[in-house]
Amino acid sequence: MVPFLDLQKVNQSFQPGLGKAVARVIESGWFIRGEEGRRFEEAYAAFTGTAHCVGVGNGFDALRLIFRAWLLQGAMREDDEVIVPANTYIASILAVTENRLKPVLVEPLLNTFAIDPGRIEEKITSRTKAILVVHLYGRNAMHPEIKRIADHYHLKLVEDNAQAAGCYCGDRRTGSLGDAAAHSFFPTKNLGALGDGGAVTMHDDTLASMIRTLGNYGSEKKGLHDLPGVNSRLDDVQAAVLSLKLGRLDEDNRRRRQAALTYLSGIENPAVTLPQAESSETIGENVWHLFVVRCGRRNALQKHLREAGIETLIHYPIPPHKQKVYASMNAGSLPITEQIHQEVLSLPLTPVMRETDLQQVAEAVNRFRA
Ligand SMILES: *Cc1c(COP(=O)(O)O)cnc(C)c1O
Repeated sequence: MVPFLDLQKVNQSFQPGLGKAVARVIESGWFIRGEEGRRFEEAYAAFTGTAHCVGVGNGFDALRLIFRAWLLQGAMREDDEVIVPANTYIASILAVTENRLKPVLVEPLLNTFAIDPGRIEEKITSRTKAILVVHLYGRNAMHPEIKRIADHYHLKLVEDNAQAAGCYCGDRRTGSLGDAAAHSFFPTKNLGALGDGGAVTMHDDTLASMIRTLGNYGSEKKGLHDLPGVNSRLDDVQAAVLSLKLGRLDEDNRRRRQAALTYLSGIENPAVTLPQAESSETIGENVWHLFVVRCGRRNALQKHLREAGIETLIHYPIPPHKQKVYASMNAGSLPITEQIHQEVLSLPLTPVMRETDLQQVAEAVNRFRA
C-alpha cells in the first residue's frame, strides 16, 4: 500500500525535536503572539527575503487580510477587479469575493497549469486593481511578463504561495516577488504545522503593521481598536513547530525534486502526460508540492492505481466557476480550465517516500492501458 501522504511518517522524521518544541511553549506559558511567534516571523521573513512576515491563522486569512488592508488604505474599492487564475484552489477566489472585489478569471497554460501571461492584458479594465498569481502545485508562476503588466498598469501584485514554500525564482524566493504574499502552513503543505497556520510576507512597512493590527481585532495598542479587525494569529505552538521545520525545508524540497525526477524518468505511458520538467527558464522552478499528471481517462487511471494499492487524489475535481457558491458568476468560456479539472491526477510524492515506493507507482502507471 502506498498512501498519498503519510503525515505520521513525515512528522516522525522531525522527532524528538517536535515534541521538544511543543514542550518549550507549554513551559513558557505564552501561547499567542509570544517569543516563538516573533522568532518564526523573523526567520521566515529572512528565508523569503522580505522585510516583514506577519503570522496569521491560516492561508485564507493571509490572502483576505491583504485585500482588506488595501481596501482600508483606499488602494482599491468595492467592485474593483482582481485578475486570478481560473484553475486555482477556491480559497484564492473566496479571498477576493469575501472582500466584495470581483475575480476576473484567466485561463492557465495546459503544460504548466500556471496563469497564461498572454491572456492577462485583454482582461484589464479601468477597475482592475490587482493580479493574484498562484504558484500552483509548487511551481513558480511569476512569469516576467506578469510583472511587466503589473508595473505598466500600476496593479498590485499578490502571490498565493500556499503550495510553493521555499521555491526559487532565479536568486529570489516566491513570496518576495510582488507587493504581498500569502502563505499557508496547513499540515499537508511543504512547510506544514500541526494545525492551521499562515503568514503574509511583504516589503512594505505600512502594510505589515496594518495586517498585524487587523489580525488582532484591529488593535495595535492594548485596549484601543482603530480598525475593523478579526482574530487571526499564528499561535506559538505552531510557530515553534514551523521554526524547527523551516530548518529542513530546502532539504525536503530537494528530496521532493529527487522523487519527481524518479517519476519523470520512470513513467512512460502514451496515455499519461507528465508535468513539464523544470527548465533553465526563469519560470521553470518547482518545489513539487504535488506531482500532477494528466490523462484523458483519469478516473480509469485512478481506479487502476487504487487496485494496485496506490492512493491518488484529484486537485481539483471541480473548478471554482462550476461550484454552487459561484453559480451566479458569469465566468465565460474556460475550456482549458475545464479540461484540466477533468484530466488531472496527483500521484503520491513526499520527502519521506522510499525509492522502491516511487518505482512501484511508476511501474503501475506504466501498466495502465487506456
Ligand atoms: C491551501 C491553500 C490555500 C489556503 O490555505 P489554508 O491554510 O488552508 O487556509 C490557499 N490557496 C492555495 C492555492 C492553497 O493550496
